[in-house]
Amino acid sequence: MSDINISNSTQKIMVIEDNCITLCQLQDYLGEHGYRTIPCKHCEEAMTLLEEVTPDLIILDIIMPDVDGYEFCKWLRSHSRLKLVPIIFLTAKTSLEDKLEGFQTGGDDYITKPFAVEELLARVQAILNRVRNYYSISMKDELTGAYNRRYLKERMEEELYRVRRTGRPFSIVVMDIDLFKNINDNYGHYVGDSVLVEFVSFLQARLRKSDLIARMGGDEFLVLLPDTTSGKAYFLVERLRQALEGMWFHHGENGIAAQNQVTISAGIACCPEHGDSADILFTLADRALYNAKKSGRNATRIAALTGEEMLRQI
Ligand code: GH3
Ligand code: MG
Repeated sequence: MSDINISNSTQKIMVIEDNCITLCQLQDYLGEHGYRTIPCKHCEEAMTLLEEVTPDLIILDIIMPDVDGYEFCKWLRSHSRLKLVPIIFLTAKTSLEDKLEGFQTGGDDYITKPFAVEELLARVQAILNRVRNYYSISMKDELTGAYNRRYLKERMEEELYRVRRTGRPFSIVVMDIDLFKNINDNYGHYVGDSVLVEFVSFLQARLRKSDLIARMGGDEFLVLLPDTTSGKAYFLVERLRQALEGMWFHHGENGIAAQNQVTISAGIACCPEHGDSADILFTLADRALYNAKKSGRNATRIAALTGEEMLRQI
């Protein structure tokens, strides 16, 4: 799955409907309620648009001149990127058999014509809310709200594809809190947890919306910076590192107010400069992080080798 919109920003609803009056009515009504509609008069047009875009939901007619809605629904459910997109059938076919076939082919809901737009909107909202909750649970780290490894893997694949298509670079930064164990040992696990949460808030407040923060495990995080060279990433991470150095984390220790400072070490690798696969980029960023720790911690290092040089050494 790619490009599923889990934020509250404008959600995209594809409407596939050969009746122009119904199509315009839905476009206006959904638009008035804050959705961006992608209108299609037939399935072939939809297939072309779906090469580029992943809608948040599809409203699908059944009786259409080219491919019928059931066939199109089966095609969507077999498509690796589109198979999880919710589908609502909107159709003049009203028999029980028709409805059962709609659900058996993979529809999430079935509305018969004539229909009330208010009801259609309520069903759209109910499905989108459920999907949003589901995705935010399955893609995020429970403690910090950062993305998890699974989501990171998907986004990395998308970024690698984007680089191949556009040639625009991206960088990854592996960050690890220095001597984090001491915080747990000195103040307890609860304080350690709240430092992890505050650290992610610190990053979220300073990074772009398009940057991605993922928790790799323990006190290690990965930041993915689209459209960023290794040089730009270095300046950005150095700014973050220095800002963190000057910050105090406040917490209570046995009812007494306490505070501590936190520093990080970071390793950077850039695609395509250092490599063009997720594995190589992770390995090189990890090595750079190791070098930053070895240099005395509270430091940033860029990958010293390219992926090819690393492979030649093995
Ligand atoms: P270094 O500078 O070399 O990274 O030292 P460090 O102490 O940060 O490294 P180490 O990997 O030894 O310690 C990480 C610690 O993070 C160990 C583990 O108990 C703790 N930890 C892992 N997950 C969590 C968590 O969810 N909450 C808390 N509070 N601690 C965690
Ligand atoms: Mg650490």
